[in-house]
Amino acid sequence: METPKTLLEAIQYFSDEQVCIDAVAAMRWPDGKPKCPECWSKEAYYLKTQKRWKCRECRIQYSVKRGTIFEGSPIPLAKWLPAMWLLVNCKNGISSYELAKDLGITQKSAWFVLHRLRLVVKTPGTAIKFGSNDGGEVEVDESFVGGKIKNMHRSRAMKLGQVKQASGYETRVHNENKTVVFGIFDRESRQVRAKVVPNVKRETLQNEILKNVKYGSAIYSDQAVAYDDLRCRYIHDTVNHAEAYVKGRVHTNSLENFWSLMKRNLSGTYVAVEPFHLDRYLDEQMFRFNNRATKDNPLDDADRFLLALSQVANKHLTYAELTGKTERPEA
Ligand SMILES: [Zn+2]
Repeated sequence: METPKTLLEAIQYFSDEQVCIDAVAAMRWPDGKPKCPECWSKEAYYLKTQKRWKCRECRIQYSVKRGTIFEGSPIPLAKWLPAMWLLVNCKNGISSYELAKDLGITQKSAWFVLHRLRLVVKTPGTAIKFGSNDGGEVEVDESFVGGKIKNMHRSRAMKLGQVKQASGYETRVHNENKTVVFGIFDRESRQVRAKVVPNVKRETLQNEILKNVKYGSAIYSDQAVAYDDLRCRYIHDTVNHAEAYVKGRVHTNSLENFWSLMKRNLSGTYVAVEPFHLDRYLDEQMFRFNNRATKDNPLDDADRFLLALSQVANKHLTYAELTGKTERPEA
């Protein structure tokens, strides 16, 4: 597939539904042979007028959307694909309001489209741990989101307060309706993992570290008490944010960058994000951050788009699931 390089090219290129179908099919079935979603047979022929395949084995008809995040959506791929291009490439994200205007769909539809696409770009699992047994460097930090919109910045004073009076802290955070986001950054791979956690208790944050970081890694954090006791399994060094933000290699600046991007998005593009949806916005931002261009890995807009497009299969999100009416475990 010859890929467009810019948003404008992408919109023009994907204005033809057949081109979209070919693009999605090429990512799903690189061998050029569609696979039947019912019987897995690779014997099928294309019904051109209906833009569907017919399985030679079980005789069912299926479209390229079947078995992907696009399944069941009345919105044509000619709108889905430009939406995906925008989501993976706009550094500050795109609001449902803007997307609705750009694509000529309702804001409600645009909101649903964006959330489905966030599921597409969600980083799969945490199978590979960060760091290394011989002191691979990892930053950990937490950030607070929510409360008054004007007040979204992480309050340094609060955080420093935590060092002094750990016990009263959590109640205060809770009272101010802040949501806690915990982040880990691996300096070797330049990748970040961030998620909403229920609180800043030592047990909570250390569990995340144990799940995500190899024993023997060097962990850099601030002096929050939640990070005490890491020394039995890790090399742990802290920077006292009351005095300095950098102590040689001991700092959490990469995560600070991630937090400031996150806050710019949340206070600008996504004005009101409920804590319930915050993980999905984090998924979106992690995708852009972890697939940003670096010296060693010069990714461009088209690369990010194709990567996202390669992840559309076997994803499913209904409106009811999204609005919290039913529970569905995420794979
Ligand atoms: Zn079949």
